[in-house]
Amino acid sequence: MHKQACQVETILPAALILPVLDEGLDPYPVSALPCAAMSESTRETIFALSSGRPPAAIAVVRISGPRAGDALKTLTGKITPPRKATLAQIRGRDGEAVDQALVLWFPAPHSETGEDIAELQLHGGRAVIASVFTALSQIAGLRPAEAGEFSRRAFENGKLDLTAVEGLADLVMAETEGQRRLALRQMTGALGNLAENWRTQLIQALALVEARIDFSDEADVPQDLVAPALQITRALEGEIGAALADDGRGERLREGLVVAIAGPPNAGKSTLLNRIAKREAAIVSPYAGTTRDVIEVHLDLGGLPVTLLDTAGIHETDDPVELEGVRRARERASAADLVLWVVDARDNPNGLSTAPSCLAGKASAGSLVWVLRNKIDLVQADRLRSENKCQSNGSNESNSQFTEPLINKVNRQLSYTNEFKFYANELKFNVSAASGEGVDEVLAQLMKRAQNFLAGAESALVTRERHRHALKDVLAALRRALALETARDEDLLAEELRVAARALGRLTGRVDVEDILDVIFRDFCIGK
Ligand code: GDP
Repeated sequence: MHKQACQVETILPAALILPVLDEGLDPYPVSALPCAAMSESTRETIFALSSGRPPAAIAVVRISGPRAGDALKTLTGKITPPRKATLAQIRGRDGEAVDQALVLWFPAPHSETGEDIAELQLHGGRAVIASVFTALSQIAGLRPAEAGEFSRRAFENGKLDLTAVEGLADLVMAETEGQRRLALRQMTGALGNLAENWRTQLIQALALVEARIDFSDEADVPQDLVAPALQITRALEGEIGAALADDGRGERLREGLVVAIAGPPNAGKSTLLNRIAKREAAIVSPYAGTTRDVIEVHLDLGGLPVTLLDTAGIHETDDPVELEGVRRARERASAADLVLWVVDARDNPNGLSTAPSCLAGKASAGSLVWVLRNKIDLVQADRLRSENKCQSNGSNESNSQFTEPLINKVNRQLSYTNEFKFYANELKFNVSAASGEGVDEVLAQLMKRAQNFLAGAESALVTRERHRHALKDVLAALRRALALETARDEDLLAEELRVAARALGRLTGRVDVEDILDVIFRDFCIGK
């Protein structure tokens, strides 16, 4: 298919193809992108408040699209110098002064969206913003932006690839330092650039195989174009395999360590959550079974994200409303990375018999259970003191005394249902959610757990299931390609490489293998 254009005199060695790719290809070819067909003039100009909820000192309004310049002129009477903050009178449609503001003008393509952008830094009062929005709405071709539309346009105009868009979204949502670092790395291309580089190499390998197929009759074509292609494939298989062998750390850091507070009704779960969250996040009530939903609290423990779930009092019930709460509680608890099983310290250990059946079925293999004996303030003081010594493993309970029957009881329950593994060396705590006693130690251990759980996550490349899925597809195709080595079936090999390149294209949002091949082949023939 590529043969018609030229007769091959010299085939470029693989090492020479890459510079051709680097120089000759727009890494974000607009022709491959969904909105390329839409001409500038038919594109609507969008505007939105880009800063937080008013009233505020400043409100940033952005206007993006072909009529952004007209809008700026209408509001200020002039087009201000590009990329220079300029003080301007903002006037409404009737000419009345609305505000005095800083304005910025970013002509296309050197703007965040790749379109003309006008940015107004208004005083952040509601009336000011409303008045400017009214004036903007009255300009033909302008409309309020939809959610994510600026980023979408940036993607469509090749300013951001999909992974960078996701990084941007994560950066805005990041709640902890760890999440912020991970998001920033992704937004600035940690995964996107690597994927683009992998894709370029793959297409280079594909070009070699295609050359072998298309020009196999030509005398000048070196016999072995396939070996260097396989070499590239093998190296990529190693690199992508290594990126995937990260134990899901990036996804974990995005989500945080998920900790479910579970246990029988009235054990003090909501009180504990409130104590930890230092606010009234859950309803505390002296009546059993009143926490009917799953309440979620996001914590920042030493820069690491921990999500605490207060599961409804897990117990057997016929009440349909409670049943739904119990079902949700079980689902969340069984998917959690750690369960804090709260019991009333005064209870007979028989009270624990609900634990395993309540968490039935879905516990992941790595889930852990820590037992928190709550309401120790209500247990006799002298008994308490003797029990409340630190263990060497960091929990605050003596290993030898009353905990033994408790652990045995839980283990007996767990062993026959085989759901959560409750190891003797797992932590047990004596706490009082009401007074706060022992809670700091639970938090210290939680922080340690989060550190172990999320170790090395900030440098992870894969942060979403979508990435993992695409990269697994790439890896599978590369492995199928390598398995063809002895068969020497070049058509199949080319097809697998194409599949792999497309899967990488899905990752970054670029799917134009054929376009790139055409460019490579155009330069493949020297002097023609
Ligand atoms: P949940 O059903 O497990 O969420 O239990 P709650 O948090 O609603 O608590 C049930 C009752 O126990 C409430 O009256 C709480 O005030 C009380 N409570 C919870 N923790 C403690 C504690 O450590 N000490 C004492 N004395 N009472 C507690």
